[in-house]
Amino acid sequence: MGAPATFAGRVLSIATLHGKERALAPALTAALGLERCVVAAVDTDRFGAFSGEITRVLEPRAAAEAKARAALAEFGGDLALASEGSFVPYPPAPLLTLDEEWLVLVDARHGRVFAHRHATLEAVFAGRRCTSLEALLEFVRTQPFPEHSLVLRPRERWSTGHPVSKGVRSREELELAAQALLARFGELWVETDLRAHHNPTRMRAIAAAASEFAAELATPCPRCAAPHFRIARSLPGLPCSGCGEPTDWVRARVRACDPCGHELELPRPDGRTAADPGSCGACNP
Ligand SMILES: [Zn+2]
Ligand SMILES: [Zn+2]
Repeated sequence: MGAPATFAGRVLSIATLHGKERALAPALTAALGLERCVVAAVDTDRFGAFSGEITRVLEPRAAAEAKARAALAEFGGDLALASEGSFVPYPPAPLLTLDEEWLVLVDARHGRVFAHRHATLEAVFAGRRCTSLEALLEFVRTQPFPEHSLVLRPRERWSTGHPVSKGVRSREELELAAQALLARFGELWVETDLRAHHNPTRMRAIAAAASEFAAELATPCPRCAAPHFRIARSLPGLPCSGCGEPTDWVRARVRACDPCGHELELPRPDGRTAADPGSCGACNP
């Protein structure tokens, strides 16, 4: 069961209401030899919405898998893909936002589920409470608007019955929605619309995730030939160029095969075999 044979000539359903097929289909179609991709118009928002009306109860990976399974259940076929994004503080620098994109491919014909996580600090994600139109416009001037849409609602936390304006992408819409909220609530909350078709930076992250995932899926296990001989983890310990002691730098990456358990240690893709003494605990304590 080699990678091309597994997927070649098949039809892939992409579960999305938000135009993600534009970012997902090209890389996967080419790398996997698919016949074509079709959009499965699953109501993906029922698994959770960024703008807060529907709380996500599943972890991102599980939510993506649930969307892909819903595509198969509602639209048929035996191969479906879905994605789920989340925007979280970047642990080493919590003021920065990390865009994490999970892609999950469900292959019902072979009973396999494949997953890939892509993370990037290139994210457009911001929000602010405003009590005047002037304050709102000042915030908006700091944002890549109108290329990226905005969401307006009364408060940061959404409450049942509160109005919400999503996909706001013109100055006219913005002022109209803001004036209505300010008149009724005396304040408003404005934030980036994170849905892919309203956030081109996120759409690019999803395309990057798809390229990586396609390459991983097309890599067969050298022992059993199953697809998705994936990078499972990185190993630290690249030796210091000064003293030879192991550092925290990545020494190797490990590819692993889920069906047969085979693992292979590979050198760094950049070819480096030694770390700077500046990063060495012995040379530069
Ligand atoms: Zn294998
Ligand atoms: Zn050293």
